[in-house]
Amino acid sequence: ADFGFERVALGEKQGRVDAVFRSVARRYDVMNDLMSAGLHRLWKDRLVSMLRPPGNRPFHHLDVAGGTGDVAFRILDAGGPQTRVTVLDINEDMLRVGAERGASYGARAEFVTGNAETLPLPDSSVDAYTIAFGIRNVPRIDAALAEARRVLRPGGRFLCLEFSKVDLPVLDRIYDAYSFHVIPRIGARVAGDADSYRYLVESIRQFPTPGVFAGMIEAAGLRHVTHRPLSGGIVAIHSGWKV
Ligand code: SAM
Repeated sequence: ADFGFERVALGEKQGRVDAVFRSVARRYDVMNDLMSAGLHRLWKDRLVSMLRPPGNRPFHHLDVAGGTGDVAFRILDAGGPQTRVTVLDINEDMLRVGAERGASYGARAEFVTGNAETLPLPDSSVDAYTIAFGIRNVPRIDAALAEARRVLRPGGRFLCLEFSKVDLPVLDRIYDAYSFHVIPRIGARVAGDADSYRYLVESIRQFPTPGVFAGMIEAAGLRHVTHRPLSGGIVAIHSGWKV
C-alpha cells in the first residue's frame, strides 16, 4: 500500500502512526535489533552517556515516545537510587511491553499514556527530557518541542535521538537501497507487516535536515542547541537546554 505520506493531513497522521505501533508492539524489540544490526543499542548508549544522570541526588527524567522502555532502562542503570523515569507514550501496547520488561525497576519506572504534543505534566517539573526515534512520528513537531520546554525545569536538558541524513558518498547509496528494499522485506518476513516498515522509511525521508531541526528546537525556546551525527549521519543527537 502507498501511505501517501505527503498527502496525509496532520490529524490523520497520528492514526496511522498508532496503527503501525499497535501492529508491531510485540515484535518491536527484535525488529530493532534486526533492522539496525544492533546499532540502535550503541546509539541509545551514546544518548544516555551525554545525559549522565547523577548518582547521588534526586533526578526525575521524562522519556517521551518511550515505547518499550529501552532508553528509560539505560537511564535507570546509569543513574543512582534516586533517579526515576517517566516513560510516556501514546500507545498502550508499546507501554505494556515496556512495563513487563521493566518490572524489576519497581516505582523508579513509571509508564504513562499521553501525547508528546500535550504532556500531562506540570510546568518545570522534570530534570531532563529525551525522545528517541519518536519525534519523527509526532504530527506537530513544534507543539512537542514547546511542551518539552514547558515541562523542563530551568537548567534542564533536552536530548533527541532521531534518524538523520546520511552524508557520506557511498554510504548514502547503500543506505537508500537498504531502506527501500531490505527493510520492507524484513518487515514482511518477521513482523508480517511490510506497510508499517514502508511508513518507517518514508517518515525518515520526510524528516527535516539536522540544521533545520536545530532551528526548530531554538524556535521552541531551548538554548545552546547543538547536533552531532552518529554512524555517518544515519542518526543524529540534538541537544538543548532550558535556561
Ligand atoms: N523510544 C523508543 C525506542 O527508541 O525504542 C520507541 C521508539 S518507536 C520507533 C516510536 C514511538 O513513538 C512509538 O512507541 C509510538 O507509539 C510513539 N508515538 C508516536 N506518536 C506519539 C505521540 N504523539 N506522543 C507520544 N508518543 C508517540
